[in-house]
Amino acid sequence: MEAEIFDLVVAGGRLANGAAVDLGIASGTITTIVPAGTLSEEPRVELDGALILPGLIDGHIHLDKTLLGLPWIPHVPGASVRERLQAEKALRRSLPKPMVARARRLVELVVTRGTLALRSHVDIDQEIKLAHLEALLRLREEMKEVIDIQLVAFPQSGVTSVAGAAYLLDAALAAGADLLGGLDPAGIDGDIEGQLDILFRLAAKHGVGLDIHLHDPGELGAYELRRIAERTRASGLGGKVAVSHAFALGAISDAAFGATADALASADVAIMTNGPGAEPRPPVTRLAAAGVTVFAGSDNIRDAWSPYGNGDMLERARHIGYLNGLKTDAELEFALDLVTGNAARVLAFGDCRLVEGGRADLIAVAAANAAEAVAASPPRQVVIKAGRIVARNGQIVTY
Ligand SMILES: [Zn+2]
Repeated sequence: MEAEIFDLVVAGGRLANGAAVDLGIASGTITTIVPAGTLSEEPRVELDGALILPGLIDGHIHLDKTLLGLPWIPHVPGASVRERLQAEKALRRSLPKPMVARARRLVELVVTRGTLALRSHVDIDQEIKLAHLEALLRLREEMKEVIDIQLVAFPQSGVTSVAGAAYLLDAALAAGADLLGGLDPAGIDGDIEGQLDILFRLAAKHGVGLDIHLHDPGELGAYELRRIAERTRASGLGGKVAVSHAFALGAISDAAFGATADALASADVAIMTNGPGAEPRPPVTRLAAAGVTVFAGSDNIRDAWSPYGNGDMLERARHIGYLNGLKTDAELEFALDLVTGNAARVLAFGDCRLVEGGRADLIAVAAANAAEAVAASPPRQVVIKAGRIVARNGQIVTY
């Protein structure tokens, strides 16, 4: 057999089906999967029987909000989204510049935990305008060999209730934001159709998808979900629209849930959850059974909204599994899908299965299989992006 040229050999790992394998990687692709002990080429990394999983995907994070790297800042409580928004803005004005140093620290943290693609919402408002977006577009470029970053232009202060918001969102999409965000059309703007008019018009103008934060509760939130589904269907955006949080799905009647889940499934609108502890939360297995794509994200990490979070998506899968009572191996594998295959589908990140011809984004952990990896959330021994080792034993490799 003619010797092949590999950029990296991942030796002696195990796939989720238990097979002990060597992987040969070239040009960012897994080109060869053979029984362990077959490949002798250098450079190589020895896994000593560790489990190989696809790189993890964080479907919802806020890179520009994190306070990582600063001394501990006590949380300022607020009774409503609006109150917490005011508290955040007051804090933001007092923080050392630049924001991007904290964002970089967070990206490096999540990479050490095996996240190799993420979707970050980025605040766009009258005070900062496009400054955060422009800084994160530069950071994305600098870190493109370590992680894929998708940026959502996020109107954290509102859309129709804020003068000039639509203009700024339009400019953000022209400047390179990948998607358009939204926020509680009823709760923040008091104008469901008004906000959705602007979001869907701008999405069509720029040919982008939508990812809308929706905290509005109960029947009101469910009604908004059905309106988003209806507009998605009408505008042909199926598969490109997600709703984040959708607390309403956890606090409505069975009949309303059924109608809303059916509307989301038939319009191909995905639902993101971070597994909130003190709010109603979308029942992930019921949604999946209804045909809705469900994926997961960290949301806030050590910022004005939450003191919690560490960007570890295996822990996030475990957390969501715990909250939803997922215990069988099949259920734990479903939890892993929330941060791998399902998230890849929503982010249009392609196939993330570990197969010959597949992308060489992978992690290695000490676990027998995917179910144990979720249940135990073991440390990431090696993190490989496009065939390059980018983190080892919790430390980022220089990029
Ligand atoms: Zn969020």
